[in-house]
Amino acid sequence: MFQWIDAIETPLAVIDVPSLHIVAANPSARALLRGGRDDASQIGQALTHIGRPEDAAAFERALAPAADGRAAACVLALGGAGGEGRRLHCVVRPLTDEHRLLEFSEGPAGALQRGLVDILDQLPVAIEIYDKNFFGTFYNKASDELFLYEEKVIVHHDEWWEFGFPDPLERAAAFSEWVAKMEVARRDGTIQFSEWKVRCRDGSTRIVQFRYRWVGESYVLALWDVTTERQTEEHLRHLAVSDPLTGLWNRRRLIEEGQRELELGATAGKECSLLIVDIDRFKSINDNHGHAAGDEVLRTVAQRGLSQLRRSDVMARIGGEEFAVLLPGTSALEARTIAARLLRAIRVPVVIGDDVVIEVTASIGGTGSTPEDDMDALMARCDRALYAAKTGGRNRVVFDDDISPPTDRAASSG
Ligand code: GH3
Ligand code: MG
Ligand code: MG
Repeated sequence: MFQWIDAIETPLAVIDVPSLHIVAANPSARALLRGGRDDASQIGQALTHIGRPEDAAAFERALAPAADGRAAACVLALGGAGGEGRRLHCVVRPLTDEHRLLEFSEGPAGALQRGLVDILDQLPVAIEIYDKNFFGTFYNKASDELFLYEEKVIVHHDEWWEFGFPDPLERAAAFSEWVAKMEVARRDGTIQFSEWKVRCRDGSTRIVQFRYRWVGESYVLALWDVTTERQTEEHLRHLAVSDPLTGLWNRRRLIEEGQRELELGATAGKECSLLIVDIDRFKSINDNHGHAAGDEVLRTVAQRGLSQLRRSDVMARIGGEEFAVLLPGTSALEARTIAARLLRAIRVPVVIGDDVVIEVTASIGGTGSTPEDDMDALMARCDRALYAAKTGGRNRVVFDDDISPPTDRAASSG
């Protein structure tokens, strides 16, 4: 009898009065009432069953025959699992004596809410919302992509930490940072910020930025995966402070790190030492064997140098054929031993291909630090000692305190 409403896109239903039963509902109305367009189970049910029984009086008022034929209105508050909290606005029009036509609309809030969920799902940022007891109330798609471990939804925020941080120490550190910041966020209403290396859904470890705050009674997080950005930054930083030929630090990094080591050493009452290693007559190596062979010698010297050093020591290429070795926590006396060892390692002829043998020697200038020293002072003393090693005949180690200041007398110990 009321099949004609099926052809209309606007959500419509026909209600029998006074039983309040739904006798017909078109697909759009069925979708609103339950969620599935082909679900016809609302037909034959009472409005007070789909909605709330306590609204019966309001329905009856709205459905009562209107003397002037004007439309009435009521609100259908959907109960039950699927419709929890949704309110449908209904416009009621007379159809027959026993039937009323109901036109449903979600009302501005409902439509906006559904639109917002779509928008949040499209965002490239992960959004998570928890209630005041930290039970999850919303995760958008980007959040699922990061943290839907084993397809299991995290029900309570506490569950996440073990998934995100397999290492108990890292977990404990991140957790206590979070507790402190989250309390500040609650007290001041501010956005807090953390950046953690976390295990993700696919098992990979990624660097994720967490921004979190309280919005009323809700705890809200926005998360960005910044792994690529951080890797690029690290790569650029590495390029800016390293030497492309040998992979050693460059002069800039040596000065920066050296300065830090000197300050740490001064506070801890420990001496640092610095060596400058300059390959002897390197120009003639280039001239005799070509620039490429020269490069090979530079790489070999770098490797041989590194092989003689401890992990805490640092070797940098500070000029064409000039290297610096920073020895933190090392006295000048100990540094002399290391310098002699370096020299012996470098002195081994470099063999390129089957028949090219290149004799290599180097001169080394060294000095130990005093608490007042900065890197400039240390480098200047090393240079002076190196100059003495060169003028003294090359292929040797000279320390700054081997030279008496007024006469610049060079002494050798190589
Ligand atoms: P000394 O014993 O006095 O140190 O003499 P030297 O020839 O080693 O010193 P000098 O400063 O006269 O020459 C350094 C040479 O190093 C000149 C330059 O062409 C060469 N050189 C600088 N950078 C590179 C490089 O990256 N690769 C190669 N193959 N040669 C380089
Ligand atoms: Mg040289
Ligand atoms: Mg030089």
